[in-house]
Amino acid sequence: MLHIHGLVQGIGFRPFIYKIALNSCIKGYVQNLSDCVVIAAQGKDEDISIFIERIRSEAPVLARIEEITVQEVESEELGEFSIRESEDYTESVTDISPDIAVCELCLKDLKEQPHRVDYPFVNCTFCGPRFSIIKGVPYDRPKTTMAPFRMCPKCAEEYADPSDRRFHAQPLACNSCGPSYTLCMMDGKEITGINEILEATAKMLEKGSVVAVKGIGGFHLACNPFMEEPLRKLRSGKRRDGKPFALMFCDLEALKEYAFVDEEEEKLLLSAVSPIVLLKLCRKMLPGVNSGLNTIGAMLPYMPFHYMLFERLDITALVMTSGNISEEPVVISNSEALETFRGIADAVLCYNRDIYNRVDDSVTAVYAGQVVTLRRSRGLVPSPVNLSQDVDGIVAVGAELKNCFAVGKGNKAILSQHIGDLKNAETLSFFEESLERFRSIYRVDPVLFACDKHPDYLSSIFAHKSGLPVTEVQHHHAHIASCLAEHNIDREVIGVSFDGVGLGDDGAVWGGEFLVCDLVQYRRFTHLRYVNLPGGDRASVEPWRMAAAYLYDIAGEVFSREYGQFFKGVDPQMLEAVGFAMKRKIGCLLTSSAGRLFDAVSALAGICSFNSFEAEAAMRLEGYCDEEKRMNPYDWELRESIDIRPAVRKICEDVFSGVPVPEISGRFHSTIIDIIEKTCLEIRRKTGLDSVVLSGGCFQNRFIFRWAKEQLKKAGFTVYTHSLIPCNDGGIALGQLAVAAGRRSRQCV
Ligand SMILES: [Zn+2]
Ligand SMILES: [Zn+2]
Repeated sequence: MLHIHGLVQGIGFRPFIYKIALNSCIKGYVQNLSDCVVIAAQGKDEDISIFIERIRSEAPVLARIEEITVQEVESEELGEFSIRESEDYTESVTDISPDIAVCELCLKDLKEQPHRVDYPFVNCTFCGPRFSIIKGVPYDRPKTTMAPFRMCPKCAEEYADPSDRRFHAQPLACNSCGPSYTLCMMDGKEITGINEILEATAKMLEKGSVVAVKGIGGFHLACNPFMEEPLRKLRSGKRRDGKPFALMFCDLEALKEYAFVDEEEEKLLLSAVSPIVLLKLCRKMLPGVNSGLNTIGAMLPYMPFHYMLFERLDITALVMTSGNISEEPVVISNSEALETFRGIADAVLCYNRDIYNRVDDSVTAVYAGQVVTLRRSRGLVPSPVNLSQDVDGIVAVGAELKNCFAVGKGNKAILSQHIGDLKNAETLSFFEESLERFRSIYRVDPVLFACDKHPDYLSSIFAHKSGLPVTEVQHHHAHIASCLAEHNIDREVIGVSFDGVGLGDDGAVWGGEFLVCDLVQYRRFTHLRYVNLPGGDRASVEPWRMAAAYLYDIAGEVFSREYGQFFKGVDPQMLEAVGFAMKRKIGCLLTSSAGRLFDAVSALAGICSFNSFEAEAAMRLEGYCDEEKRMNPYDWELRESIDIRPAVRKICEDVFSGVPVPEISGRFHSTIIDIIEKTCLEIRRKTGLDSVVLSGGCFQNRFIFRWAKEQLKKAGFTVYTHSLIPCNDGGIALGQLAVAAGRRSRQCV
């Protein structure tokens, strides 16, 4: 008997085994169990070893074999090799495959295979929807949203034929038996028939309509990115002031007309994940697309329908932004789409197969040759993270923004898809529903919860309400632990945790932290010098407030008179009120946030005083800095904390004397690198530690990511950064899980 563990279901593994068994003269059977694939193999010894060798060397591209265990058992003569029905009995569960972009062979079938010509849901064992349609394991058709569709005789034949590429492809169907699209106009008129739909949709998009298009894991809102009017309409409808829209290009060539694409980025774009990739523009887009930034998020078609639509379109790209309003979860049901998109979209293009698990597009980028994941969702979830720790029964509920949770099964961490900002009720119910589903699909019986230290996060409240033991993990410790877990490291390291905000042990708002930590505890070595955080959360939306806080720190209460010129466009009364609040210490928390320092500098440099989307000020500041070039850093001092007042003073002088913004931005970015490098050297001198972990949202900044890593390596440190797990709050849950497990193993909880 062979037991094979890993990602071995839903990707054509059993047919593959069947084929090689037949031509290796093996008798017996292969069967999916819920935690692995089992093979009974009978034959000559040498045939069996060749068979096992071939399993390893010829496995399908998408398979990931973690372990093959071989066990000899007595058995009667087995018959011709066969594929047995799944049995659903073990306690643990195997990996569920993420959704996979349509493959080349299927695109060919779309043109040539008689019963699948123009069949917009063509798929096979190598491609198609998976996680988004799965309701339970083992992965078989009745446990997917394909269950209501009865296979026609032709499809049934392919499904049962082990030599066919669609053997046991659960979502398989064809023109006569599968799901179909309907184009619903807002006046109630419906268009059916794929060619009529494509014709009408293409015409509408070209002429400037907005169309809601059902995708794999949720709806997109699509429009023509080369026309002002639909962009304006989409922005106001989505209540999304300035946040850049993602684009889908018809192919790589068309994309390269607008953006630089290097080899690594090309690989990502064309991968089976088919994520959004952040790219640098080489040609301007309309400001309505990306608010004048020098980057865009771009992806290539990944559903058969996308390809078919681009064939009819005379434009080479479409805006394909998440189908939601503001920060609500992406719409997945047809009826909700018709309701929600009234007034935004001119038509809703849907199909009659349900999306069970909502998954947004994943967002990735390549920083200095390394793939980084900024939003981990479609195509990546629910691949587990294998740990050396036992995390069984632990549920980590994540942070408040960019929420994602994690459940522990054995030594695997299974991270949820991107959930979103828990502040609104719809997102919170999405969180609760998904957590329930992960618990049931993976059969996790929670015994321990891990949450953020912040008692008001809805995720923390949820954990405390569970009635089970809860361990609280400080936000910045969780960031570093997340990166430790991603690299499977459990030892003491230097942690540089730079991000927006997270509650600290002293009640202040932390975010520019140098920690010495492992997977159980941490010590705060030093941090950016505290300044006021005027207006709390409002400070992250109005960067001028942070400029005020930093100027107050260098000039005291006369700051608004001495530095009045930095507050053009700010209501003088508001400025007065903020000054008064800082002087009297009314409602002003203290903060060491690195993210807020970027905001302050962006406002001081006259780049951005009011954000129209999250992190705008910092992104625009980064946009002015040449990634290739490190510059002379401004002065700062390491005392009991990191004092950057000398830098802030110099920045103000530079602005006064008209130093160009790119130079100010370049020098400021280089100052952050200088701070990271010198402080790590100091920690190494005092502790002897020479491994540094870089985590937190600030490492989404290309310059900071690249140069921090490069400089530290040059100084002889071993440097760990995130790749598959986001460095932003989307990665917090993994860190919480790892710390909870670390504490449990050392009986600290
Ligand atoms: Zn395929
Ligand atoms: Zn069929």
